[in-house]
Amino acid sequence: MSFPGSISIVVPLYNEEENVRELYSRISRVMKKMDLPFEIIFINDGSTDRTWKHIQEISTQDISVRGMSFRRNYGQTAAMSAGIEASRGEVIITLDGDLQNDPSDIPLLLEKIREGYDVVSGWRKNRQDALVSRKIPSRIANWLIGKMTGVELHDYGCSLKAYRSEVIKEVDLYGELHRFIPALASMVGARVTEIPVNHYARTRGTSKYGISRTPKVFLDLLLVRFLLRYRTRPIHFLGGAGLGMGLTGFLIAFYLTLKKIFMGEELSRRPLLLFAVILILFGTQLVTTGFLAELVIRTYYESQDKKPYWVKEMIEGGLEN
Ligand code: UDP
Ligand code: MG
Repeated sequence: MSFPGSISIVVPLYNEEENVRELYSRISRVMKKMDLPFEIIFINDGSTDRTWKHIQEISTQDISVRGMSFRRNYGQTAAMSAGIEASRGEVIITLDGDLQNDPSDIPLLLEKIREGYDVVSGWRKNRQDALVSRKIPSRIANWLIGKMTGVELHDYGCSLKAYRSEVIKEVDLYGELHRFIPALASMVGARVTEIPVNHYARTRGTSKYGISRTPKVFLDLLLVRFLLRYRTRPIHFLGGAGLGMGLTGFLIAFYLTLKKIFMGEELSRRPLLLFAVILILFGTQLVTTGFLAELVIRTYYESQDKKPYWVKEMIEGGLEN
């Protein structure tokens, strides 16, 4: 846990031509004051405006600026992931490119990293976004995510975050999972905390999201919950549900059979019979899906030589000496 160390600032940009220069000067002002080695990595996520042109120009004037341009728009998570992958600093800071986050909060985040945390998440305590379409859904989402992942933060959605590089590089990001990084990081054993940060309304450019992200976030939450608990043992989840259903179906069928044998009841008139059959069929399918999932995760781990655990430190010695 060496510190002070080098810092990488990662910023995903999608059609932010009006913001990129101002953002650059604010970040570089803050970083120069801190006197730590740093790099700024701008990822152009397939912008159709002049964002990349600006990044190119800035980088010719300042060697601490690096850039990467996607062939098309892949989304904020992909852009962040690419930036994290490319970064060389011991600490990685991510923030939005629309000036809604404040670079002068960076030193506060670093202070927490210095205290020993692996992930420091910004909390937009005084959030400047629409109430009904943004703040209310977000409050509910944050509460739910906290309960379901066990990592309780006020504000999962804030992009301004700091990570110890060795930890965040272990986290695989797909889809739109960047919102869940603190929960995913806890999966690899990260110590997570949060601090209040500034937040401003967007003054230039437009937001890339609307209310339609709500159901997606909910699905992602189910996925993250599954990954957190059953990543290495899907049969316990799928098989557990399958057994429960199958057994219930079996008991109902057994009860109906007894009724038929001892009371001569006509089964074709019992909707319950249909219910029992459905439960048995679904239950069986879930168990077999569980076995398939087990085969899939074995392929995932063994083909890439990944381990189902993460090592923090090691003491060498023994037979090698
Ligand atoms: N962004 C991106 N690719 C996308 C959508 C967004 O790189 O497909 C960037 C965007 O340029 C901004 C950040 O992600 O820097 C956050 O996006 P936005 O401000 O639109 O989200 P909001 O603050 O409205 O939630
Ligand atoms: Mg924004």
